[in-house]
Amino acid sequence: MSARVTETMEVSNAELREWCHELPKVELHTHLNGSIRDSTLLELVKNHGDNGIIVVEDFAADNCIYLELRTTPKNNEAKGMTKRSYMQAVIDGLKAVDIVDVDFCGCGLNNEKSKDTRRKKIFVRLLLSINRSEATSSAIDTVNLAMEMKDVGVVGIDLSGDPTVGQWETVLPALKHARELGLSVTLHCGEVRNSKEIQAMLDFNPERLGHVCLLSDEDWDRLKSLVIPVEICLTSNIMTQTIPSIELHHFG
Ligand SMILES: [Zn+2]
Repeated sequence: MSARVTETMEVSNAELREWCHELPKVELHTHLNGSIRDSTLLELVKNHGDNGIIVVEDFAADNCIYLELRTTPKNNEAKGMTKRSYMQAVIDGLKAVDIVDVDFCGCGLNNEKSKDTRRKKIFVRLLLSINRSEATSSAIDTVNLAMEMKDVGVVGIDLSGDPTVGQWETVLPALKHARELGLSVTLHCGEVRNSKEIQAMLDFNPERLGHVCLLSDEDWDRLKSLVIPVEICLTSNIMTQTIPSIELHHFG
């Protein structure tokens, strides 16, 4: 009897997994950089550009239909890299994706190599990230680059990086500039306890916030009253030990 129950549950779990896999998904918080240096990423894109940015294929395999990739353009004079050339390498990598059809600029598929309607299709858009450690002028350069690249799929600006470094006041002029230009803004917020900065971010009232793990009750009340959508990643928060367990996660 118990064996039959277990078997039934296993089938049920498998069916649930399959159902979850088949669900169309939207992914709004993916760092292209991950944990590797930007210069390394640039080399990878250059050297493997013929195969495209494989991350895109992985998301499409999970039936993600809309993917927002965020990446931090950087200058690296020693490697002859500018923010623009870095972003061009990313665009080239997206154009070269071969396994799935990628719509990355809203102007049709970039690689209609196959007319096979069974091929997976994924919409990819880009957010340019400002690193919290950047100077104001560098952050404004990133915003201007994002504006120039609006017609190739850039939809907004992100603020990210080590939450223990940088001052909100340093990047605020660049974020205001982005807003004036009509670019959407999302902010990594509340990754460490810093109520003063969290309240300043809420004052800015961005289009989205990321993580919001360590908010005070007052911060939460304010966030809920502003109705700002939040990008939450349970596994990221647990892996980075920002939140001790799933049971205690603020998603609930
Ligand atoms: Zn993030």
